[in-house]
Amino acid sequence: MPTKPRLALATLLAYNELLRLNIGACPISSDTFLTPSGQSIIICSYQEFCERTGVTFDELSLGGRLGDGFYVSGTDTYRTMIFYNADRYTPRVRFTMLHEVGHVILNHKRNAPVEEAEANFFASQFLIPSALLLEIHRRGHNLDVHRISRIFDVSLTAARVKLEQLERLRHTQTHLDDSIVRRFTPYLDQYLPPEAASFSHALHFFGGVDNYRAYQKLEEGTLFP
Ligand SMILES: [Zn+2]
Repeated sequence: MPTKPRLALATLLAYNELLRLNIGACPISSDTFLTPSGQSIIICSYQEFCERTGVTFDELSLGGRLGDGFYVSGTDTYRTMIFYNADRYTPRVRFTMLHEVGHVILNHKRNAPVEEAEANFFASQFLIPSALLLEIHRRGHNLDVHRISRIFDVSLTAARVKLEQLERLRHTQTHLDDSIVRRFTPYLDQYLPPEAASFSHALHFFGGVDNYRAYQKLEEGTLFP
């Protein structure tokens, strides 16, 4: 059993899942997990489970005591199920779901503080990959809590924790960073292009500052509607 949170491992496993699920756009969708395709994790909403089994909502959630989500792990990894409350499918629930996925993927056997920290870090690296944040920053975009929350559709709390972690821990480069950035490059080029580069490109394209407005119209789709 780990005595210190294995943050590097949690990061690699989160990045590995992103690459395996072929995710390359923000906000990172956890819906992909919702398709049980012979995977070892089955994700099901409380509502769907109740409808299929006749179990009442109160019975399944122990009268609401189990919160927005929980997981049940059998002796066989193929029997792991994650439940979540579809009525509260907010950024917070998404984080909760990914936290539970983290427990499963990190092969946790208990819910001690070390395991909780690892699962949280997994969820954070899956939904807001540090490699991607640094790339967006490198492209000249200012990243504050509100912007991160908007781009990645995470709660302000998750965004704040992420920024604090980046400051405190620095970013440890992993061998998957480049693959993550490459996978997201088409998305980034479209929605978060390098700030200076897109400006100079516009100037070059239209031959001067006066025509910059034309470039903006082109981008908005109003120049050639
Ligand atoms: Zn947990």
